[in-house]
Amino acid sequence: MTTTSAAASTRSVWDGLVGQRPTIEVLQQAAAGHGMTHAWLFTGPPGSGRSNVARAFASALQCERRTGCGACEACRLGTSGSHPDITWVRSETSVLYVNDMRDLVQSAAKFPAIGRWQVVVIEDADRLGTPENPRTGNALLKAIEEPTPRTVWLLCAPTVQDVLPTINSRCRTLTLATPGTEDVAAFLTRNDGVSETVASFAARASQGHIGRARALALDEETRTRRREVISIPARLTSLGSCMTAATNLAELAKEETEAITAEAERRELDELQAIFGSERKDTTSRAYRAALKGLEDLQKKKAKRRVLDVIDRALMDLVSVYRDAIAVSVGAPGMLVNEELRGDVAVVARATTPEELLRMIDAVFTAREQMLEFNVPPQLALESMTVALRLPGGR
Ligand SMILES: [Zn+2]
Repeated sequence: MTTTSAAASTRSVWDGLVGQRPTIEVLQQAAAGHGMTHAWLFTGPPGSGRSNVARAFASALQCERRTGCGACEACRLGTSGSHPDITWVRSETSVLYVNDMRDLVQSAAKFPAIGRWQVVVIEDADRLGTPENPRTGNALLKAIEEPTPRTVWLLCAPTVQDVLPTINSRCRTLTLATPGTEDVAAFLTRNDGVSETVASFAARASQGHIGRARALALDEETRTRRREVISIPARLTSLGSCMTAATNLAELAKEETEAITAEAERRELDELQAIFGSERKDTTSRAYRAALKGLEDLQKKKAKRRVLDVIDRALMDLVSVYRDAIAVSVGAPGMLVNEELRGDVAVVARATTPEELLRMIDAVFTAREQMLEFNVPPQLALESMTVALRLPGGR
């Protein structure tokens, strides 16, 4: 009996990773049994594919051939996210909770049901706590310090510094590269079948963020919203235009967040109602009302986080315009990130000096810090930012 007739054309679990050759080699070795360890930390900028690397490695660890062949049952279950011995921990709120972590540590200590390893992936290891409030991280610490023989922890975070020192010092860290424009473009053509022109645009505009690149390549509305954001700098010529731009930015972020959020919230409510049997009109019970309140609170936190993520990306798009303007004013060769809007970029470059452009980039990062670190309301932070981005000579 043949296991599969399509083995030759089957994609291995590593095929979806972009520009991560050195990391893949280490992980392939480990899956084959060389240099295996029980706690790994994958770091890299958003969109570099940390979760995808974790998914591929988790699958390869379970793979019947120990290679991540992509063809066996274990690989198939692993890549589809339904392997019983691979647990995914995601947090859309800003923190992971200590009780959830205690439960998780307990179930992670169990012997694998069908696979070789009990694999736990923590996608947001940066939300395990801070040195001042490390309770969730501490719940995990012992499990990593004195691991059960068949358990593997895969942690993902933007940088090593984002993870509690007590945790990161006990992990083997692999740092992912920001994939190059050419790698991303090639991936989009191969994986999504988009034209080379679209792939080249999306790869440049995403600046190495794979998920963003795919959204830009495949979704017209995403392209339109980005275009609106990057056309802002050239228009900031008066105080009035700065105020308008701040409002527009906040609204664009809200629109995009709502698009992402609406469907997720509807599904969560459906699930809750299914649990409480809405067909029996049991939704007036005290337990249901309490659960509904809990869900609504959680959804509020998630929505707030999503809005910040979306604004954050818009700010990075703005930064790309100022970097392009510097490239134009110093006459650097090569394509701009925003090659398609070279005219707008030139307007900004003509109105400013490179020093002023650097100061503007600083202003964007200040706004980002105010919102993400100090909880300044977005509208307020965006207004100070756009005023600081006003082109000299405007009035
Ligand atoms: Zn396999």
